[in-house]
Amino acid sequence: MNNKSNGKIYYSFDELGQELFGLKPFKKVTNDKQKLASQQEKFLGICPYCKQPASYVYGTNIITCKNENCKGKKIVRKFDDGTFTEEYRPFIKMISDKGLEIGTTIFSEEKENEKRKG
Ligand SMILES: [Zn+2]
Repeated sequence: MNNKSNGKIYYSFDELGQELFGLKPFKKVTNDKQKLASQQEKFLGICPYCKQPASYVYGTNIITCKNENCKGKKIVRKFDDGTFTEEYRPFIKMISDKGLEIGTTIFSEEKENEKRKG
């Protein structure tokens, strides 16, 4: 074991662990279920079309609406001959990298539970 510092200063064991052992950074998720639920609610927001809570697509930067009865945004296209078509686009919200980090943190437990269910 070489005790000589290579010049790098470690400020926490997490930091050291990440570099030496490739450990994942420690993620802080509150143990308070109510607080977590309110964090999730705030993070997701509400689908603007059906007014139901939106869903996070785990591991991505996408928030969408998974309500089966929600058609999404109505888009009407009119043609010169007077006919028109209607189509619906699902609600999709892209979040930032920071949002992705928050999402994977606050929904990590749900993801684990899903895995256990199989
Ligand atoms: Zn919806």
